[in-house]
Amino acid sequence: PEIIEKQATINIGTIGHVSHGKTTVVKAISGVHTIKFRKELIRNITIKLGYANAKIYCCDNKECPRPGCYKSFGSGTPPKVPCSRKDCGGTLRLMRHISFTDCPGHDVLMSTMINGTAVMDAAFLLIAANEPCPQSQSQEHLAAVEIMKLKNIIVLQNKMDLIKKSAGIEHYEQIKKFLKNTTAEGSPIIPISAIKGHNIDVVNEYIVKKIPIPRRNFKSPPRLVVIRSFDINKPGCRIAQLKGGVAGGALLQGILKLNQEIEIRPGIVTNRGGRIKCLAIRSRIVSLRAEENELKYAVPGGLIGIGTTIDPTLCRGDRLVGKVIGNPNSLPDVYCEIEINYLLLSRLLGVKASEGSKGFTEVENLKRGEKLMVNVGSTSTAGSIISVKNDLAKIGLDTLVCTMVGERVAINRRIKKHWRLIGWGRITR
Ligand code: GDP
Ligand code: MG
Repeated sequence: PEIIEKQATINIGTIGHVSHGKTTVVKAISGVHTIKFRKELIRNITIKLGYANAKIYCCDNKECPRPGCYKSFGSGTPPKVPCSRKDCGGTLRLMRHISFTDCPGHDVLMSTMINGTAVMDAAFLLIAANEPCPQSQSQEHLAAVEIMKLKNIIVLQNKMDLIKKSAGIEHYEQIKKFLKNTTAEGSPIIPISAIKGHNIDVVNEYIVKKIPIPRRNFKSPPRLVVIRSFDINKPGCRIAQLKGGVAGGALLQGILKLNQEIEIRPGIVTNRGGRIKCLAIRSRIVSLRAEENELKYAVPGGLIGIGTTIDPTLCRGDRLVGKVIGNPNSLPDVYCEIEINYLLLSRLLGVKASEGSKGFTEVENLKRGEKLMVNVGSTSTAGSIISVKNDLAKIGLDTLVCTMVGERVAINRRIKKHWRLIGWGRITR
């Protein structure tokens, strides 16, 4: 129970069209721009992970009116804080400790977003009220979270400060229409101004009331999906001072402990004249943190950073992304070829239909020999279709992946110079 104080137990992703306010809303909730980092190491981990943690509180005074009784602060805040409402006298109590997965601004790649869904428990769909709805990436991102079976979506109608009330109501109707027959139909739609902090307390209230804490599996062997990795050493650093590589990611199941032995798959891959060999990496956890908190053990939930004894050059510049970390000899197999049972979208999303057409572009079936991009867990890799039969396709992968039968795969095709989501599949073999 006290783990929630130190480590976030739920991951919320931000999705939506570029500059609709994803980063701003994360700042509004976590106040992360005000957090001061004491150590270089901490700063490195936090900034490069591109995430922020936040704690959400509710006042224990029953008379304290909603939504003002819900407040949020950075993750360094203690579990009990006096309520700031004048003459309230109540105590704010910690309800949720969340970690946000917010793609960096330049990162408009769908693959990054889809890989992010591998660790998301819920998502905020940001829709700016000063533009017609839906914009192309709003559609595409919603389709992606749908495919990845993410159920808990809260829609944030942002930038309400820029429009009149009547336009807001009209825009709200557009959103409702857009969400019809999607997983987000019936999801709460909250009008906010992320930049002015308006209705952020309502968002906090909905996080507490509408997003259940996912039931976690602590007993299975640990499995951490890496979404960032880096070398924290400065150029010119002395050998004796050299620190091992750092990996950041989310534990999907099990518990990881400080000082334990770990294995990383797929490890180092060598290709000698077509003979591919894969050597798993073995290491030890030398430090474990969740944002600024040092941990003795980590549980599934928020993003964590793991310091290892691995050669830092193997971790530099996100080289470990897509890999899986767990106990030695307990990780799933490594695949270079997968067979999937697939389903294509009925129409192309995020692309304007050409003139004189039906108003949308149909998705053509997969073709033998075709080059695609697939997302498996947090890995994006090129792949080519070896064979297609009915709804089964065999795909040869350019990058090895550690995965298993039953896992979901997103399929992307290059259309007009952009990778577009065209469907998904489940690994059958
Ligand atoms: P992202 O690309 O979705 O992460 O969008 P950002 O959060 O970076 O926001 C894009 C721009 O919109 C920035 O200049 C923000 O200051 C601005 N912005 C975000 N939220 C609001 C809002 O509620 N009202 C107004 N007026 N501007 C906002
Ligand atoms: Mg952003």
